[in-house]
Amino acid sequence: MVTSRLFERVAIIGMGLIGSSLARVIKRDGLARHIVGSARTEQTMKTALQLGIADSVTPDVAEAVRDTDLVVICTPVSTYSEIARRIAPSLAPGAIVSDVGSVKSSVIAAVMPHLPDNVHFVPGHPIAGTEDSGPESGFDTLFEDHWFLITPPPGTNLSAIERVAELWRRAGSKIEIMDPVHHDHVLAITSHVPHLIAYTIVGTATDLEDQLKSEVIKFSAAGFRDFTRIAASDPVMWRDVFLNNREAVLEMLGRLSEDLSGLQRAIRDGDGETLERLFSRTREIRRGVVDAGQHIPPAPKSEDDV
Ligand code: NAP
Repeated sequence: MVTSRLFERVAIIGMGLIGSSLARVIKRDGLARHIVGSARTEQTMKTALQLGIADSVTPDVAEAVRDTDLVVICTPVSTYSEIARRIAPSLAPGAIVSDVGSVKSSVIAAVMPHLPDNVHFVPGHPIAGTEDSGPESGFDTLFEDHWFLITPPPGTNLSAIERVAELWRRAGSKIEIMDPVHHDHVLAITSHVPHLIAYTIVGTATDLEDQLKSEVIKFSAAGFRDFTRIAASDPVMWRDVFLNNREAVLEMLGRLSEDLSGLQRAIRDGDGETLERLFSRTREIRRGVVDAGQHIPPAPKSEDDV
């Protein structure tokens, strides 16, 4: 499929859910001649080779990026700075470095200072995922009909942005260019705070006494069940999201707790009108999400957008 090829040699650093799903797309559609996979453990790299989603593997990230025209960093965001520092001397002039991290301002601050002037950094974030991790959990339709947000720093080379956009279009994504600070605020309320709520509610239920705990699981209704799925998301990845999007998350949490206090008061005062007004407004928002096509779960697993 030479006609479909977008890149010659691509390095994917981190072959977990997101990296392996992107690799599957590149392999499926022949978008690169060669994929070099890199991960921390032998096991992950062996699996990537066995699955046929990497042509070669190496734990040495500097070695992985040599002679590549595209590098996609797909590791937890706390690793970015060190990875950027290590790959910088091996990057070919004109190479594109991109990523998939769930936060963007801190990623840009962590990566940019290390990169030489003659490579292009195009930060991005696929708004698609599941609660699973590792190379086996990926699938090539994960990104279909989901947004890929590109958050280029000022002055980013336009043709580099376009090449990254085209890669994700081939993965089935819709593309939007966004300011990184704006991205972090939007994602704080649409993804990060909802995950924090899920972690909290499941943690609170787990802390209840033994008898109740078993009943919580036994009679787990749709609402709680959905929270347990979200709260099963990767602990390291989510630790990094909160540590790297601190200000936006704290701002949104402040607003949320004010609104919760208002609801608490309405319940205490028996103010049904206030409750019904809010619930009607939020029902409308759900209709908006459905109309925008953002409710469709990606096959084969249920959705957990981050
Ligand atoms: P994952 O399934 O846990 O995979 C992480 C991968 O990174 C693994 O292959 C791991 O290798 C590798 N890795 C970790 N530290 C490394 C290091 N220092 N050097 C080289 N490789 C390293 O994680 P994921 O869910 O794909 O998430 C990856 C990135 O995507 C994160 O930045 C996250 O914010 C972003 N993201 C995630 C989702 C989601 O729903 N999960 C959605 C959008 C964006 P080993 O397997 O050998 O340990």
